[in-house]
Amino acid sequence: MQTYDNIVIGNGLAGAALSYELAKVKQSVLLIDEGSPDSGTRYSYGGIGYWAGTTELTETIFRAGIVRHRELPDELGADTQLRELDLLLTVAKGADIAAVKASYAAMRTPPQFIDAKTAGEIEPQLNTEAIEGAFTTRHAHVDPILLVAGYNAAFRQLGGHHNLSAATGLVRIGDTVTGVTTEAQAYAAKRVIVSAGAYSLQLLSAVGVQVPLYFTHAEIVETAPLDFEVRSLIMPANNARTDSESASPDPSEWQKPNHQVMPPVLEAGVIQFRDKTARIGQISRFHTAFVPPADASESEKAIRDAIARPLPKLKNVPGIWRHCLVTFTQDNLPLLGPVPGIDGLHLFSGFTGPFALVPPVAQRYAQQLNHSPDELIEQMTVSRFS
Ligand SMILES: Cc1cc2nc3c(=O)[nH]c(=O)nc-3n(C[C@H](O)[C@H](O)[C@H](O)COP(=O)(O)OP(=O)(O)OC[C@H]3O[C@@H](n4cnc5c(N)ncnc54)[C@H](O)[C@@H]3O)c2cc1C
Repeated sequence: MQTYDNIVIGNGLAGAALSYELAKVKQSVLLIDEGSPDSGTRYSYGGIGYWAGTTELTETIFRAGIVRHRELPDELGADTQLRELDLLLTVAKGADIAAVKASYAAMRTPPQFIDAKTAGEIEPQLNTEAIEGAFTTRHAHVDPILLVAGYNAAFRQLGGHHNLSAATGLVRIGDTVTGVTTEAQAYAAKRVIVSAGAYSLQLLSAVGVQVPLYFTHAEIVETAPLDFEVRSLIMPANNARTDSESASPDPSEWQKPNHQVMPPVLEAGVIQFRDKTARIGQISRFHTAFVPPADASESEKAIRDAIARPLPKLKNVPGIWRHCLVTFTQDNLPLLGPVPGIDGLHLFSGFTGPFALVPPVAQRYAQQLNHSPDELIEQMTVSRFS
C-alpha cells in the first residue's frame, strides 16, 4: 500500500487550497472528500474582507490574501470571478450610528459612514426609508465554487490524488495516527490533516481528541437567477454573530448533546453572483447537534421577512432554504498545526472568514510543513490553547 506524505480530509476552501499548496511543494497528497454539497464554502458569500485586519497578524495575512487572490487565476488557470465591489453594512432606522462606528474603530481601515441617500445611489435596490445609512468600503469577491474547482484541477495536474468518499475514521495506533479509513479501504500517510470544517470534531473525537473548535448552523436562501441586479455585498452593520462567537461560553456547554448554547442571530444580507443567482442570509444557530436544529420553512420565512426591510424586492424571489455548518474559534484565528500529544495528526480548520485568510495561510503552512519555519503560522497553531 502506498504511504502518502499527506492525507487531507475535506474539500472546502481550506482543504482544497492546502492540498494544492502541498502538491506544489512536491509532497504526495491524497485529498479525501465526501462530496456533500452542504459545506460552509458551498453556501458562502465569497467576500474577501482584506481591509478588516485588527492586529498586525490579521492585517498582514488579510493583505497577503488579496495579493494571493490576484495571483491565483493565472497560477491555477481558472477564472475565480475575482472582482472588487462595494460592501454596504446597513444601519437600521433608529440604530445608534456612533455605537456601530465604535465597533469598527479597531480596524486598520474602518469602513466609512454614508447617509441613506448616498447608500441608495450605490445600491438602487436598497429601501432608503428603512436605514439610517450604511458603513461602506471596497471589498473583494470570488465565486467559492469556482475557486475550489480551480484549486482541485491544478492539484490534480500536479499529480495529487482526489478521492470522492467519506473518511469513516482515523487509524490510531497508540499515540500515532497512521492513516484514514473509508468504506472501501484504508489509506496510509505520514501525516493526516483534518480539514473537514465542523465535521473535523467528529473525526477527532472518535480517536479521543478534543480541540477548542466550535460551530454555528448557518441557514440561507439560495435563489434562482434574478431578473434584476444587486450590485453590492450587503450585510447589517452590527457584529452580532462575531460578538457571540468571541463571547464564546464555557466550553462545557458545547459538550452537552442536542443543546442550544446561545440564542440564534439573524443578519439580513445578500450577494449576487455573475450567473444572477443570489444567496440571502443568514441565520446562525449556536447549537451542539450536527443536524439542523430548526424548521426549514420557519427559518426561510424569518430570512425573507428580515431581508424585506432593507431590500424589499428580495422577499419573494424564488429560492431554496439551505443549511451548512461554519466553524469558529474563540480568538477568530484558525486552528491549525500538529494536534498536541498525537503524532502524525494535524488540523487545518476554524476559518470563520476564510476567503481572505485561507489562500496565504495554506501557502505558508505548506511551506512550513516542507521545512520553512513561519512565525505567522506559529501564532495560529492548536497549541496556543494548550
Ligand atoms: C452564508 C454564509 C456566508 C459566508 N460568507 C463568507 C464571506 O463572505 N467571506 C468569508 O471569508 N467567509 C464566509 N463564510 C464562511 C465560510 O465560507 C466557511 O466557513 C468556509 O468556507 C469554511 O471552509 P472549510 O474548508 O474550513 O470548511 P467547509 O467548507 O465546511 O468544508 C468542509 C469539507 O469537509 C467535507 N467533509 C466533512 N466530513 C467529511 C468526512 N468525514 N470525510 C470527507 N470529507 C468530509 C465536507 O464535504 C466539506 O467539503 C460564509 C459562510 C456562510 C454559511
